Amino acid sequence: MHAFWPPDASVVSWVVLALILAKWLAQLWLDYLNRQYVLAHASVPPAAFQGIMDEATYAKSVQYTLAKGRLSQVETSYHVLLLLLVLFSGILPWAYRLFAGQFENSAWVSAAFLFVIALTLSLPGLPLDWYHQFRLEERFGFNTTTQKLWWLDRLKGLLLAVALGYPLLVLVLKLIEWTGRWWWWWAWAAILAFQLLMLVLAPVLILPLFNKFKPLPEGSLRERLLSLAERTHFRTRSIQVMDGSKRSRHSNAFFTGFGAFRKIVLFDTLIEQLAEPELEAVLAHEIGHFKKKHIPKTLVVSALGSLAGFFALSVLAHEEWFYRAFGFAPGNIAAAFLLFGLLSGAVTFWFSPLAHWWSRHHEYEADAFAAQVLNEPQPLIGALRKLNEKNLSNLTPHPVYSGFYYSHPTLLERERALQGLLLPA
Ligand SMILES: [Zn+2]
Repeated sequence: MHAFWPPDASVVSWVVLALILAKWLAQLWLDYLNRQYVLAHASVPPAAFQGIMDEATYAKSVQYTLAKGRLSQVETSYHVLLLLLVLFSGILPWAYRLFAGQFENSAWVSAAFLFVIALTLSLPGLPLDWYHQFRLEERFGFNTTTQKLWWLDRLKGLLLAVALGYPLLVLVLKLIEWTGRWWWWWAWAAILAFQLLMLVLAPVLILPLFNKFKPLPEGSLRERLLSLAERTHFRTRSIQVMDGSKRSRHSNAFFTGFGAFRKIVLFDTLIEQLAEPELEAVLAHEIGHFKKKHIPKTLVVSALGSLAGFFALSVLAHEEWFYRAFGFAPGNIAAAFLLFGLLSGAVTFWFSPLAHWWSRHHEYEADAFAAQVLNEPQPLIGALRKLNEKNLSNLTPHPVYSGFYYSHPTLLERERALQGLLLPA
């Protein structure tokens, strides 16, 4: 008779297989639901938008949504197949023996092993990413990236990972050697410190590696936006314009950094697409995120999440069955990190609706702030409508699908919330 605990390695394999398949089926089902819903609404745009998005644009947005859905189904299944192959074929322990046989065992070598495996595992995704950019986005008129730029972006990403990711990985593995059973606490603190540092440094050092940033030029728009910043007591040195049009015709605005390093960035494509009052509304929305402290709040919650992750990893790294189920020798900490990295997505996936619900809550708050500051919701509604039109957004996602995946409420939801606000006269 087998005792229930510790579990047999084969039982662990079956449980992991079930978790991976459950996530896969859920993804396929969500895609299917969304597709049926979009098809059901394909012939007539939602009543609220008749006369706003013309029929040809609406039809194009439906085609775009369906094409993205098809590609996402292929991607999902492809990645599941690869994951199962990598986990259960014995290729990982084989690669580890090959690697460990060449070098002395140290944190530097373990980190290099993890790094090489992560890099290798990212390669099979490249063709699909390429197809997405140069076939799908191209077909709908969004792509402005050249082949050269696309490959250069990947190369820069790789070099950044080597320069920042590899030393960080070595540090974490060293901390395990140095700090004993509370290592997970120290590793978490090191990662958190790194994240905080990046929050400050990324806008200054990393984003400029990929895009050019220029202060918004003198003129009526700049005056209008700076006066809004003053009215809302949002101290800012400048508002930056990013050359987003270098890669894509999609438009956006974002807000990064904190303290003296904060930065509001408008895509050049956004400035091209929106009228001045609408751009003011978008900036008011971004200032709303700042005023409602959304960045620090999100940071605290994600830090707690990663603490839970490190704790779980430290528990699993103690268990023999965790290693044996995938053909590794117990106590091999590099293997524990690798397996945890490959498997955690099958669990965290189920938390994504909660995280997205919270994010949507922040969007409503920022919208309400913008409407209040501008004394009317109209400019923001106008901006959102144009953004949805220009980006060919799906106006009719299935509610379960958008509830699961959407970080922003849909156009209809945002308009309803904005119109329902009781604004002071
Ligand atoms: Zn927002």
